[in-house]
Amino acid sequence: MEKIDIKSMTLPELQADFAARGYEKFRAKQIYQWLHVKNVNSFNEMTNISANLKQELSNIFYITSLNIVKRLVSKLDNTVKYLYELPDGSHVESVLMQYKHGNSVCISTQVGCKMGCSFCASTIAGFVRNLTPSEILEQVYAAGRDSGERVSNVVLMGIGEPLDNYDNVLRFLRLLSDEQGFCLSLRHVSLSTCGIVDKIYDLAEKKLQLTLSISLHAPNDEIRSKTMPVNRRWNIDELLDACRYYEQKTGRRISFEYALIAGVNDSLKDAQELAGRLKGTLCHVNLIPVNAVAETSYRASNRQKVFAFQKYLNDHGITATVRRTLGADINAACGQLRREELQQEK
Ligand code: SAH
Repeated sequence: MEKIDIKSMTLPELQADFAARGYEKFRAKQIYQWLHVKNVNSFNEMTNISANLKQELSNIFYITSLNIVKRLVSKLDNTVKYLYELPDGSHVESVLMQYKHGNSVCISTQVGCKMGCSFCASTIAGFVRNLTPSEILEQVYAAGRDSGERVSNVVLMGIGEPLDNYDNVLRFLRLLSDEQGFCLSLRHVSLSTCGIVDKIYDLAEKKLQLTLSISLHAPNDEIRSKTMPVNRRWNIDELLDACRYYEQKTGRRISFEYALIAGVNDSLKDAQELAGRLKGTLCHVNLIPVNAVAETSYRASNRQKVFAFQKYLNDHGITATVRRTLGADINAACGQLRREELQQEK
């Protein structure tokens, strides 16, 4: 019999399962809290459970844990990058960033990615599989365990496209924010998408308090379709319509990511076109000098270009900030560490 992934189960599911097995009523909550509050990774650590029950549970269920195969600490800013191996030999990465206001962890939602953005390291070797809810969740718990501090912010900006793994990501969000569990308010969670429009509409209906980040990266369809294949399925107008709908339904300001690539999308004309398009949208633009990825010829825009672009947007009513670079010495940009590991295996 295949074992059940206990860390992906909600409390009501666990209660129903335990009731059907005839366990005492309080057991489900007890075990759920060991997993999601105390964040233990084995039945053996659950000190108020009898040896018999521990044995029985470990015959029925498994507890997802991730094996740290690389742990790189930035000498510049204490950012920690983790490369994890999953039980099937796949790899994913997370980054723990320490800020004055708390610890933020950037996590992966898939092994590889189908989206094919031409500047992104995560998609070069294609898609392998979706992460399970517990594999997504465990990246948060593992970072907390390793650093000895509670994770206070979570960003879904690692490897993979979260809205292409919609059901597992939604279940992850439910577990992460559960008051009986880890209890992290979704106000402290950001979800980044390349623009899977139908799922943005679905997500809007859930009225979650998370921050939606849109990877826009271009002011028009011509540039965006060249760098982001998803734009050939849903163009910028369709994407922005979905964003306005999302904003209306949730009341939340949208964040647009814009990676500045020298000579591709960083001219003042591009800034002008972008400002025109975003006018009237409750939003914030995050400018990021693109991270050079070995396999691509893209290079980051220089500082003057970045600040001129930012100034143009700010002068024209669009709030824009330039993202601070953390972990520059440890390849902290998503997908780069896994990519190295894959190449070494070859
Ligand atoms: N698939 C999701 C989330 C993962 S990528 C998405 O597309 O939003 C997280 C962010 O990093 C996205 O905004 C993505 O476009 C950006 N990104 C990918 N490669 C990058 C690079 N080389 N330099 C800068 N940003 C990059």
